[in-house]
Amino acid sequence: MKERIEQLRAELNQHNYNYYILDAPTISDYEFDQKLKELQVLENAHPEFYDENSSTVRVGGTITKNFKTVVHEFRMYSLDNSYSKEDLEEWERRIIKTLGNEQLSFVCELKYDGASIDLLYEKGRLAQATTRGDGIQGDEITANVRTIRSVPLQLRGDFPEHFHIRGEIVLPKKGFEQMNKERIEAGEDPYMNPRNTASGSLKLQDTSEVAKRPLDCLLYALVGNTGVSTQFEGLEKARQWGFKVPKASKLCHSTQEVMDFINYWDTERHNLPYETDGVVVKVNSFAQQEELGYTAKSPRWAMAYKFKAEQVDTLLESISYQVGRTGAITPVANLKPVLLAGTVVKRASLHNADQIEKLDVRLGDSVYVEKGGEIIPKIVGVNLEKREPNSQPVHYITNCPECGTALVRNEGEAQHYCPNTYHCPPQITGKIQHFISRKAMDIEGLGEETVELLFKAGIIENYADLYEIKISQLLPLERMAQKSAENIVKGIEKSKEVPFERVLFALGIRYVGETVAKKLAKHYKSIDNLQQATLEQLIEIDEIGNQIASSVISFFKEEYNLQLINRLKEKGLQFTLSGKSTEGQTDKLKGLTFVVSGVFHLFTRDELKNLIELNGGKVGSSISAKTSYVVVGENMGPSKKEKAESLGVKMIPEEEFQELINS
Ligand code: AMP
Ligand code: ZN
Repeated sequence: MKERIEQLRAELNQHNYNYYILDAPTISDYEFDQKLKELQVLENAHPEFYDENSSTVRVGGTITKNFKTVVHEFRMYSLDNSYSKEDLEEWERRIIKTLGNEQLSFVCELKYDGASIDLLYEKGRLAQATTRGDGIQGDEITANVRTIRSVPLQLRGDFPEHFHIRGEIVLPKKGFEQMNKERIEAGEDPYMNPRNTASGSLKLQDTSEVAKRPLDCLLYALVGNTGVSTQFEGLEKARQWGFKVPKASKLCHSTQEVMDFINYWDTERHNLPYETDGVVVKVNSFAQQEELGYTAKSPRWAMAYKFKAEQVDTLLESISYQVGRTGAITPVANLKPVLLAGTVVKRASLHNADQIEKLDVRLGDSVYVEKGGEIIPKIVGVNLEKREPNSQPVHYITNCPECGTALVRNEGEAQHYCPNTYHCPPQITGKIQHFISRKAMDIEGLGEETVELLFKAGIIENYADLYEIKISQLLPLERMAQKSAENIVKGIEKSKEVPFERVLFALGIRYVGETVAKKLAKHYKSIDNLQQATLEQLIEIDEIGNQIASSVISFFKEEYNLQLINRLKEKGLQFTLSGKSTEGQTDKLKGLTFVVSGVFHLFTRDELKNLIELNGGKVGSSISAKTSYVVVGENMGPSKKEKAESLGVKMIPEEEFQELINS
């Protein structure tokens, strides 16, 4: 029996590959279904031979209650965008600046528009599938992904033992149209666009529902130790191992060749079975990729080229003004609903007063709307031919639409602000909502709507008030059960453990985002130190500019803020850096700038860079007269070596670096 089961599994695996990857089936659908049924019957009768990667899992049947959070073994980055040949040339120049005269080639691929996915294979079997999430951690959706026919459950050929592969789960155009046809017939609203429907599908709890969706998985990158040394070879290998890797990729040796690829696909993409919104250009050599490294958000060795967005014109019905948590006013255009690139568009951002003036948009105008990468479409111009003869320029509001306070606009800033920081309702709730948000205090049980309710009920007026809330105050609120009330209070209590850098971010100081908060926390180690800092001292910190520094200074000048901080301190929130974050921190490399080049054995490049920063040094991206040391690994680029020699910069091997920090 075991043999028959294994034989059927192998056969079905092969037919699945023929059908979904090669697009060349050798048996009829009927025969396939017969075999699958036989296998199902046998498996049901012999649960001892269960295999989570058997073809029978394709039809689903399990329920996932909660998707587990998984920290990515390798971070999943975004891509920088470019929109012109000049952008691409500029990018290439930056690369050459780092790599010197090394030979350089690029791989062009299509940018598939779906949901990114990380697949882990162990011994040739699908072991885990994870969404991108925030790039650091995502949701484990393996059971759902197993139902996608083009995801191989068992690899073929000479695959590595343990590796990750990245790709995009898409909903092909035809399948999307079919789904919508069925929905409309059933009297349901159609789905908005294939991308959102694809990512929504991946988070369904019932795998058999996912199995019904015609999802497809297109792969584009190997990650981890695979023995492969270039991107192009990686694509070829992945194909051999049984993955669906679109044929439309090209190895290019010049920007011109890259542009040819882009121009060809700009029109040809409309004939593809799935949606693409651009081309991704990648440096081919993995060694060079490593040398180029990453910015905070994206690899320096890759660039997305976005195709020009589709445009439509529609009526501008009215403009509303939103007030953000910092008091910034954003004008939003309310449009006559119009279909654009597969989505119904009703609103578009107008950014600020200057933008309205520059575009000279007027109420009743027919405006051109475009959808770029961002979710909210934007207005890019006015169809003057359709303008009414008596139309009037827009008078930008002078007072806050929420609290009536006269708006201000600081010199050099584009945005108007409502200065009524502490009493303007959306600013009050916005600040509290920011405070409790996931990347800030991450208060479990408490959501944006509840904050709204609590504020309206007069229970909270600022984030310090949160820590005074009692269960008895919550119970009278609409739809508030005992259990939820308890959870809120528990969640608030628990947030007292959130580390200082996140508390600092949560305070909502304008321009102090997540990264800046971390930087400041690391540098000053406590709120008291930060509060003492002068403008000049703040600006001296790497990447802290005048705007951020001034904002910090004025935050601490405000008596109200100091009171809030004092109350939070009394409640026991973390206002100093914990030992864990400072562990291993020294000043040994203070004042020194390091450039890291080549391949290392004792450390990974990231570890090296972390160690440099942890010990007070700076990491530079290219060798200059300011560089103190180059830490040299194997295969250092010859041009870099020459440069270091000509500038007289000292080159040290990693062992010597280790001595430097251990001394
Ligand atoms: P963005 O979300 O705009 O920053 O773009 C980055 C995303 O593009 C990645 O997370 C991938 O999911 C997606 N992507 C689609 N096609 C490719 C490709 N060929 N190479 C790399 N990333 C791709
Ligand atoms: Zn206001």
